Amino acid sequence: MVGALGRSLGRTRARLAEALRRIVPSHKPDEDTLEALEEALIGADVGPTVALRLVENLRRAPVDDESPRQRLRAAMLETLTRSTAAGNGPTERDGLPDGRPQVIVLVGVNGSGKTTSAAKLGARYIAQGRSVMFGAADTFRAAAVEQLEVWGERLDVPVIAHQPGGDPAAVVYDTCEAGRSRGVDVVLIDTAGRLHTKDNLMAELAKIHRSAAKVIEGAPDEVWLVLDATTGQNGLRQAEEFLRHAGLTGLILAKLDGSAKGGVALSIAETLDLPIRFVGTGEGIDDLAPFDAEAYVDGLLGADQ
Ligand code: GDP
Repeated sequence: MVGALGRSLGRTRARLAEALRRIVPSHKPDEDTLEALEEALIGADVGPTVALRLVENLRRAPVDDESPRQRLRAAMLETLTRSTAAGNGPTERDGLPDGRPQVIVLVGVNGSGKTTSAAKLGARYIAQGRSVMFGAADTFRAAAVEQLEVWGERLDVPVIAHQPGGDPAAVVYDTCEAGRSRGVDVVLIDTAGRLHTKDNLMAELAKIHRSAAKVIEGAPDEVWLVLDATTGQNGLRQAEEFLRHAGLTGLILAKLDGSAKGGVALSIAETLDLPIRFVGTGEGIDDLAPFDAEAYVDGLLGADQ
């Protein structure tokens, strides 16, 4: 059965399909086929290092290798699981031991899908029976606050917001405070992505951390980077930047459904020591799936192994 994650990889799968068709059982792929595969993999944004390794693995396979596609699948899985990419971590826990809210901060560049992902996470946690509160710390964009308020209304989740242009760290403080005093299980904070310089960004995120910690010891518990899967390798460079500065604990790969560059999860696994927690599979509130390495690889390669 193809799940939402598999379906969302349709465009990426289509990009790989022709090269994959040339890899047939009980035949060692010839050089042309391997070159076409390497090109297709790079086009799907698995990154040059991973593409080369996957193709080399097939090139060095025994002549009588019965199933080069199985070999490819195993090598992809190995790339995903040897890093922390496939780890799902403590994201689904039932509140924290001392009863305080779990604080999750979403960071990422403008338009990557933070607000939408906050709403989707909210819906997910509510479905699990946990209470949720949103903090609209993207004070740069009035539309972001409104967007979150619309989701809040729909989900019946309170939203803590200040005036546009206000101090994001103050919103974080107030949200954590309100979350704690009202005894909510999960506080989800949407931040702004439009910061002009790296120093600016670093200072802003550090301030947000301090604000959360002032109210709730040990917060934030999670800082997840929301990465737009359609941006492929460029997104990865952004991710490295955030990784250096933002104390990330995980990543959400949004817009996988709209991307033909969905191979980027392999590239993430190769270059960032960061678990992919969820993938965005559409614009709807339920279009968020936990990252599952096997479903992902099967989604890339198609079912007919
Ligand atoms: P933000 O600026 O980072 O908060 O980004 P938004 O949450 O406003 O998202 C920007 C656009 O991407 C919106 O039009 C969303 O509907 C869309 N979007 C977000 N996540 C997904 C996804 O997983 N799939 C698709 N197809 N669109 C998404």
